Amino acid sequence: MRTQITYCKNCGQVYNFQGSGHGADLYNDHEYCPKCKEAITLALNKIPIKTVVKWIATHLVTLEQLEQFEIDNNSEYLKNNKGGFPRVMRVFPETFNVELNEGTITREVYGRNEHHDKVFVYHYYPSKKEDVVIRVKARVNVKDNIIIRYER
Ligand SMILES: [Zn+2]
Repeated sequence: MRTQITYCKNCGQVYNFQGSGHGADLYNDHEYCPKCKEAITLALNKIPIKTVVKWIATHLVTLEQLEQFEIDNNSEYLKNNKGGFPRVMRVFPETFNVELNEGTITREVYGRNEHHDKVFVYHYYPSKKEDVVIRVKARVNVKDNIIIRYER
């Protein structure tokens, strides 16, 4: 657990901010003391949330397209990365299926070409590749789930 004595951005009160670990105060915040953070949270709770970012199932691209995007993204990275850091990939825990006796393959792929503004996630069981689920990250209206724009 890391704690830090700091000043509240609003009231100037000295307080103890808990930066990591369990057991933090409900209104623990790095900028505001618990009393001010509680007031901010309660005030914001009165304003309805209009949009949220979600992973939406999509048929905009096929698995074959995403696999090609991965190949192209990797070769572009290797071409432009002369002696630098290795490519960082997001790691997903697999979901193990006891009946199939195998775990899911999950990848996050940045889109290319007409899909350069999107990021996708796909997952499937190796023996059921045809049942692949592809999702795209998008900001949607809370009311009707309609996509406002893609996120990356
Ligand atoms: Zn305060």
